[in-house]
Amino acid sequence: ESARLRLPPWLKREIPVGKNYSKLKADLRGLNLHTVCEEARCPNIGECWGGNDDTVSTATIMLMGDTCTRGCRFCSVKTARKPPPLDPNEPLNTATAIAEWGLDYVVLTSVDRDDVPDGGSSHFAETVKELKRQNSSILVECLVPDFGGNKESVATIASSGLDVFAHNIETVESLTPRVRDPRAKYRQSLKVLEDAKAVKEDLVTKSSIMLGLGETDEEVLQTMKDLRSAGVDCLTLGQYMQPTKRHLRVAEYVTPGKFQEWQEMGESLGFAYTASGPLVRSSYRAGELFLKSLLQ
Ligand code: SF4
Ligand code: SF4
Repeated sequence: ESARLRLPPWLKREIPVGKNYSKLKADLRGLNLHTVCEEARCPNIGECWGGNDDTVSTATIMLMGDTCTRGCRFCSVKTARKPPPLDPNEPLNTATAIAEWGLDYVVLTSVDRDDVPDGGSSHFAETVKELKRQNSSILVECLVPDFGGNKESVATIASSGLDVFAHNIETVESLTPRVRDPRAKYRQSLKVLEDAKAVKEDLVTKSSIMLGLGETDEEVLQTMKDLRSAGVDCLTLGQYMQPTKRHLRVAEYVTPGKFQEWQEMGESLGFAYTASGPLVRSSYRAGELFLKSLLQ
């Protein structure tokens, strides 16, 4: 393999930190909530948690433990065939903590749990229902696994009362077997997004593509078109970053100018919103962008 690429200047960034950030950070203590934002040391935390009073605060919470039954080659989450069982109190406890925290928009996500009969879909759905019961104004996005393509599991989430159904396609079709766990399939992911939309026509659906894994421009464009054909409303594109030496190497650092071109392409393909940039992550400023897309 070739030598590791050097980090370009646009990825070295100071983390902007504003008022709401400090407040949310302080309020988090004692709530026993595990945010992906903090655990992944996400560079967008200042922006997502709210740099000032008029932004929509967003955070991402991980459900169903810290151990995944899959092993994708881009992801640093721990893997085991049989992780500890789900905590039956988690939906209530997590919902209560999120409701108390005072967020405007929350992204609930999880590891994949192929060991649980419904893949954890009812666990997700219970969390959403409890959260909406305690705070009817909070907006909820679920960023979910593919549930092995199980339509019932998808329907359980899609009809739970959530606002945004997100599932990440991650990469182009040709690279999928090399990048994602073998149980994840490009066509299956498209189908999951399509099935969610079929359950509830006005449900907003969303997906995300990582760039810099060796994909061609034609393939990125094709993936964007495939997502539109599956009825996907919102799209994010960001740079793949190698989490450790044992993970897939970065094939290319895509320039900010190129990300801007994808942004414009997304807009011309008719996505309600496209967020595209080197540091953009699937949940990047999700609340703010979601509300903007509704105003269009
Ligand atoms: Fe958290 Fe996602 Fe924003 Fe990062 S991009 S700070 S993980 S909500
Ligand atoms: Fe990571 Fe998700 Fe793949 Fe599990 S399924 S290894 S959490 S990307």
